[in-house]
Amino acid sequence: MARGVYVTGTDTDVGKTAVAVAILRQLAGQGHAVGAYKPAASGGAAGGDAAALWAAAGRPLSLEAVCPQVFSAAIAPHRAARVAGRMVDERLLRTGFEPWREAGGIVVVEGAGGLFSPLGDTTLNVDLARDLGLPLVVVDAARLGAIGRTLGLVRAARAEGLTVAAVVLSQVAALAGAADDPTSPAGIAADSRAELAARLPGVPIGMLAHAAERITPAIDWVRLACRP
Ligand SMILES: [Mg+2]
Repeated sequence: MARGVYVTGTDTDVGKTAVAVAILRQLAGQGHAVGAYKPAASGGAAGGDAAALWAAAGRPLSLEAVCPQVFSAAIAPHRAARVAGRMVDERLLRTGFEPWREAGGIVVVEGAGGLFSPLGDTTLNVDLARDLGLPLVVVDAARLGAIGRTLGLVRAARAEGLTVAAVVLSQVAALAGAADDPTSPAGIAADSRAELAARLPGVPIGMLAHAAERITPAIDWVRLACRP
């Protein structure tokens, strides 16, 4: 029986893939069987997100199983599909997870865009996360505004009946300054993490430094992953 988490973001380009890769590497490094699923990708992300996830997972199944629906335009998947004269297969968004469910292990799903970004003409990421029955890993970029963006998304997700398993602030660029300087980018990131931890009791809040391999402090993904 597989278990999993759904990695989502407060926006596009906030560092979801880096976080998903770090989770996969941690689990694989601990000897767990892992799977990776990107329900739809656009903007040449087949060679990007899906390939990165697949490599981090140790190349289980196939790259096509990781991402069955790829569209080249760098816009939302359903609109990128339209540009190519195609449509997102909404059923395949859901059935594409089946091979991973059957393979077992812990599956890390990376959504496309943010939680309320569209995947298909009628499916938002929030709908797929709910249909798959997976708890969310909320990712935000570690920069000014992270507290408000993250709390807004966590509250919206909970209002939709979803579970927020963890939050990770992702440093999409190297941050200047020292963590103990509250006015520097590094200090803003550190203080944002600490304040989110205080405001979201019971939710692990991690940080992924730029180009780092590990999320700190370490999060127990095995405990947080749920059966889909
Ligand atoms: Mg990504």
